[in-house]
Amino acid sequence: MFINEILDNGGITTSFEVFPPKNNAPFEPVLKSVEKLSLLKPDFISVTYGAGGGTSQNTPKIASYIQNELHTPSMAHLTCASSTKEEIYAILSQLRDIGVDNILALRGDLPENYNPDDSNYYRYASQLVERILDFGGFSVGAACYPEGHVESKNTHEDLIHLKEKVDCGAQYLVTQMFFDNSALYSFLYRALKVGIDVPVIAGIMPVMNPNQIKRSCALSGATLPSRFKIMLDKFSDDPVSLRQAGIAYATEQIIDLIANGVNGIHIYTMNKPEVAGAIMNNLSSIL
Ligand code: FAD
Repeated sequence: MFINEILDNGGITTSFEVFPPKNNAPFEPVLKSVEKLSLLKPDFISVTYGAGGGTSQNTPKIASYIQNELHTPSMAHLTCASSTKEEIYAILSQLRDIGVDNILALRGDLPENYNPDDSNYYRYASQLVERILDFGGFSVGAACYPEGHVESKNTHEDLIHLKEKVDCGAQYLVTQMFFDNSALYSFLYRALKVGIDVPVIAGIMPVMNPNQIKRSCALSGATLPSRFKIMLDKFSDDPVSLRQAGIAYATEQIIDLIANGVNGIHIYTMNKPEVAGAIMNNLSSIL
């Protein structure tokens, strides 16, 4: 099922993100994890894409398993910075052959020896969006950054490039994680002002590991509100308490988003069904 059609229904949607097994790591734990996640009845599950190597090969396999064996719509992430146009064509053919309907079109992080003028590669995600639509048969989403992408000079310039991505055909957007909902509300207002009118799905990361959150925020430029930092500081040496606090914080964020009319909620599950399950349980009367 196409995600743009699911979103067109207009109701609240919940979705999960998982990552595939790393090179040579066993498949079984990830399959078990997606099985448990699919029992929570999300509207779709997305599978991240590790640029190059075996991890990228594992994305189609997990996405196909979710779609064809678990009968839950899946979305395969696909990045273009480290795959040639020919390789992208091969991956699109593979995804079509295995029945994956949805792709999140991304540029990906730039490899060390990246040459922006190499015409064998798509330079921006917007070009990948166009290529996928031209290939046909997929619903296509793209990434957005409520606090601006780290490489952008400023948030306005980032929004103008985001508008180009939507004009190229991105049918919906999934946000980078954020911990302060006002960053999303401000982004949605500014996005509408430049004419971005596709559905925006809010990416929520329940914090479980303080170091990993600090590392991700340093890389992505997402800011941590003081309320959140105080929580991290208080519980960072006590994983059980941090887990409970992280689930409560994410739940509160989601309730506030839904109360303010944000209909798409995407949980970065880190392959932990019990965390996603606890959040879904907290929202059982709301969803
Ligand atoms: P783009 O949309 O191409 O933007 C990249 C930068 O270029 C931005 O600063 C933008 O403003 C600028 N830009 C765009 N167009 C132009 C133009 N015409 N002229 C000048 N500048 C321009 N990474 C992975 O490797 N695997 C994943 O599975 C993955 N999943 C993700 C899921 C989500 C929801 C998000 C938010 C990010 C994900 N990422 C993933 C990270 C992403 O690949 C990086 O953030 C990457 O640096 C940018 O990708 P993009 O698709 O946003 O790029």
